[in-house]
Amino acid sequence: MTLTLQSSLGLIFAALIVSCATPSNHSSRARDVYGHRPGPQGFRTIIIDAGHGGKDSGAVSAHTGQKEKDLALDTAKRIANELRGDFKVILMRSDDTFIDLDERVIRANRHGDAILISMHFNSGPSNIRGPETYYWRVDSHGLATRFQQAMASASPAESGNRGLVRRRIRLTRNPEIPCVLLEGGYLSNPAESRLISDSGYRQKLASNIAAAIRTQAAEGDRGTGPLPRPINAPPSRPTDAPE
Ligand SMILES: [Zn+2]
Repeated sequence: MTLTLQSSLGLIFAALIVSCATPSNHSSRARDVYGHRPGPQGFRTIIIDAGHGGKDSGAVSAHTGQKEKDLALDTAKRIANELRGDFKVILMRSDDTFIDLDERVIRANRHGDAILISMHFNSGPSNIRGPETYYWRVDSHGLATRFQQAMASASPAESGNRGLVRRRIRLTRNPEIPCVLLEGGYLSNPAESRLISDSGYRQKLASNIAAAIRTQAAEGDRGTGPLPRPINAPPSRPTDAPE
């Protein structure tokens, strides 16, 4: 590719980012519903969503008997404790309550200058393990990269960014703020489930995740690689795919 072509492509991409960043409605909040803009920097509010809750247990470990909803809440609270004082921290749920996914999006959208992290633990074939990070929006790529690195450095099962996945689900597509869904490891894997049952390990995950948030707030996307290509996709619906 010639230099001229490269730089014109760069200009086209920059123009796309700028044009997509223009809100399509008349909202006073200058947000792009697709999230086609660089990642956040200098934000002051962290919304931490513990996945599942109440009647929805999420995954249940056959190895320890622990439920995803309880482990997610415990980890969310640990992340919150790491950040309080330096950030405004909002827990989407602070007890064993069921909240619909669309309601979680509505609540997240009440806050500007914020990011949303949804904390989960995974389930699948018993030989698969390691943390995974899901993002969709362009403005969530840097954060997702940092979170995956943060969890991978705590986990003996993961290395690099193998678990960084661009996936359109309700909590990665629909909020108007940068939003990332974290899977802290597989409850279906015997060794990883036992590891996750250790509160010291969950604390390590939480403090690494909190450190990643501090780095993103201070530096924005710096060092997280090129932004992914913009994709204009409709909001995710409950019927799209299992979440
Ligand atoms: Zn889950």
